[in-house]
Amino acid sequence: MIKLYDKHFKPLIPASQIAEAVDGVARRLNEDYGTSQQPPVFVGVLNGAFMFLSDLVKRLDFVCEVTFVKVSSYDGMASTDTVSTVMGVGCPIEGRDMVVVEDIVDTGASIEHLVVELRKSNPRSIRICTLFFKPQAYRKSIPIDYAAMEIGNEFVVGYGMDYNQLGRNLRDIHVVCG
Ligand code: 5GP
Ligand code: MG
Repeated sequence: MIKLYDKHFKPLIPASQIAEAVDGVARRLNEDYGTSQQPPVFVGVLNGAFMFLSDLVKRLDFVCEVTFVKVSSYDGMASTDTVSTVMGVGCPIEGRDMVVVEDIVDTGASIEHLVVELRKSNPRSIRICTLFFKPQAYRKSIPIDYAAMEIGNEFVVGYGMDYNQLGRNLRDIHVVCG
C-alpha cells in the first residue's frame, strides 16, 4: 500500500500483466500498419501516456514518427468537461496516418477534443490507442480502436498515471482504496 497526499492506493495490475497487454496491442498495430506506404505518426498524450508510448513504440517493427500533444481536463480525481489543448503536435500531419496514444479513455471528452482538433489539419486517418478504456464511463461515439485493457470506474495511478502529479513512476497500476 502506498500513500499519495491524503489517499491510499493498493496494487491492482502488476507490471508483468501490463507488459502482456502492451505486447497484445503492439501485435495488432504491427499487423495493421506493417505495410503502410508512409510511416504513421504516433501522438502521445502528455503527461499520462509517456510510459505506455515508450514501451509501445519499442515493440513496433515498422518505421514511424513519434510526437506529443498535451491536453488538460482532469482535476484531482474527477474528469471535467472543459478540455483545452495546451501543446499541439508541432509537425505537418496533412495526409498522414495518425495513431493517438492515451493512458486512459474515461468519459471520452479529451479524446474527442483531440480528434476534432487533429481533423482540422486533414490527416489521412486517425485511430485511437489507449492503455485503459473505461467503457462504463465512456459517453462519446468515436471508436476506440486499440484498448490494451478495460477497467471499471475506479481511479488508478502508476505506469505514467498520476494523482495530482504523484505516482507516475510506479511500475504497477495501483487503485485508490480510501
Ligand atoms: P476523459 O476526458 O476521457 O474523461 O479523461 C481522460 C483523461 O483523464 C485521461 O487521459 C487521464 O489522463 C485522466 N484519467 C481518467 N481516468 C483516470 C484514472 O483513473 N486515473 C488517472 N490518474 N487519470 C485518469
Ligand atoms: Mg491522459
